[in-house]
Amino acid sequence: MATGKINVSVENIFPLIKKFLYSDHEIFLRELISNATDATLKLKHITTIGEAKIDYGNPLIEVKIDKEGKKIHVIDQGVGMTEEEVQKYINEIAFSGAEEFLDKYKDSAKDSGIIGHFGLGFYSAFMVASKVEIITKSYKDEPAAHWACDGSPNFTLKKAKKTTRGTEIILHIADDSTEFLEEGKIGNLLRKYNKFMPIPIKFGTTTETLPKPEGAKEEDPAPTKEADNIINNPNPAWTKQPTELSDEDYKGFYRELYPMQFEEPLFHIHLNVDYPFNLTGILYFPKLTNDLNTQKDRIQLYQNQVFVTDNVEGIVPEFLTMLRGVIDSPDIPLNVSRSYLQADGAVKKISTYITRKVADKLSSLFKNSREDFEAKWNDIKIVIEYGMLSEDKFFEKADKFALYPTVDGAYYTFEELQEKLKANQTDKDDKLVLLYASNKEEQHSYIEAAKAKGFEVLLLDSPIVSHLMQKLETSKEKISFARVDADHLDNLIKKEDTQISKLSDEEKETLKTDIETAINNKSYTIQLEAMDSSSSPFIITEPEFMRRMKEMQQSGGGGMFGMGNMPEMYNLVVNTNHELVSEILNTKTAKKKERLINQSLDLARLSKGLLKGEELTKFIKRSYEMVK
Ligand code: ADP
Ligand code: MG
Repeated sequence: MATGKINVSVENIFPLIKKFLYSDHEIFLRELISNATDATLKLKHITTIGEAKIDYGNPLIEVKIDKEGKKIHVIDQGVGMTEEEVQKYINEIAFSGAEEFLDKYKDSAKDSGIIGHFGLGFYSAFMVASKVEIITKSYKDEPAAHWACDGSPNFTLKKAKKTTRGTEIILHIADDSTEFLEEGKIGNLLRKYNKFMPIPIKFGTTTETLPKPEGAKEEDPAPTKEADNIINNPNPAWTKQPTELSDEDYKGFYRELYPMQFEEPLFHIHLNVDYPFNLTGILYFPKLTNDLNTQKDRIQLYQNQVFVTDNVEGIVPEFLTMLRGVIDSPDIPLNVSRSYLQADGAVKKISTYITRKVADKLSSLFKNSREDFEAKWNDIKIVIEYGMLSEDKFFEKADKFALYPTVDGAYYTFEELQEKLKANQTDKDDKLVLLYASNKEEQHSYIEAAKAKGFEVLLLDSPIVSHLMQKLETSKEKISFARVDADHLDNLIKKEDTQISKLSDEEKETLKTDIETAINNKSYTIQLEAMDSSSSPFIITEPEFMRRMKEMQQSGGGGMFGMGNMPEMYNLVVNTNHELVSEILNTKTAKKKERLINQSLDLARLSKGLLKGEELTKFIKRSYEMVK
């Protein structure tokens, strides 16, 4: 038997480890299982290359809880260690790593969020254990070794009786960590960190139902058998080649990742690179709602099939954090802070690669199955629009497949729209005006009016689309967007359609003054227009610029803060060719004239959705009086 002092210059390193790592105690299990996995994979490697003439078999890693004895056992059937190796790897090397860590990061370690990624390895066991034992038998023909350490720098190392190959780690759980003796707690940790690790992990047993023997009666119970409960899938879909996987396999894997998610993903993107960095993974486009924030943080980051985090900020560009799935890369530096991560060159390349893959996938979907792409557009547009706003590289590609649906359900790309509309939807400066509605119900009368004039009306209803319009207007030549209830519509009236006003200039002056006096409201600018007699007599429009500024202010976009509240500003367009307008002009009694004007104004406001609350109640009351 040997006894000795662990080679460490920092006296009492354990209280330090405990202190520095307090926030992330649970990672001890991930570290021990990673070591067990490494040991098993090493064995696999040396048997494959023929260095050891032993049968690899079907090794397992087993996790056992001994609640009464207050112990957790992690048992593997891997390479094991000789006494000499324990001396070297556990007593010397590991400690030097820990010492270096503490030295280098004694200031930044306060930022406990980064600690878990350091992988303090084996010694993280002391975060939850007051004493740790290693009983290990190497695959080499040498006696087993038994190492024990009670949290002081003193250890014991002696020979052991173990005859089977592999390592058993025994944690004597400390009094302040007894939560880790709960089966539910350990089960959850295993499912969180080790769900896709490459070696099967056994935790407890399950009861398996066997087929009934021949001749068994209907009412006979089926026989059962106790079986190992394997908690992980050692061969998750992302580790396979896309050619090996069917559509069903991808959907199945999605359910495995998100068991509580009943909606199927719309499509997937298989990531697979090995140069200039290593990265595999599968990303899924889920159906997205307009609520941007609730859907983040669903992508899981793995390192060699070990779960690391579901916060992929910095690795995946912001607009893609709404996607789901898995990214696995040994090349993402996990042992550094987030701000460093964002400046890291390798990470930038990864982010660029992912953006490109997503754009290429969307582009091929668009080209190869446009109908399907159109059907999915409403569920994916938010990601695409967000991406077009935030990443110029993505904009360049997406500009060719981003769709602009009409209120009647046709879908056009920007280029197609330009081609289709350039003949009859330009204003007097020869600018193409893209009319759109943001709500089919609320803007119904305006949509109808625009359609009656032969204009195409788009339906653009995502919460960030006004930012995108702004971007398109500045990046494209001679185009502008105008909502159907905006003032632009007036400029769009085709020359050949121009109506002659029935009213003389003098009559127009009188009418204008009458209306201004009757409504007595500075928010309305009166505009007299000679329109078709079947168009509404009064129409309220809102300057596009003002409305969009207001909207962008509300959605908190690009530097719009601090502009204060925008004033209400409307145009009241009066159709001088409408019969009611002539009647207003010719009414002799001032009272009746005022009533006609205000009732008409209220109808126009109702149509624009501006009549609410007390005013609406009064309006309804007044209308009943009139029809009575
Ligand atoms: P790392 O895993 O990063 O090398 P650790 O502190 O986790 O650091 O482990 C130190 C070393 O101890 C390992 O490199 C390995 O040689 C040895 N070791 C730890 N656990 C086992 C195990 N279950 N089986 C065999 N060797 C092990
Ligand atoms: Mg390790």
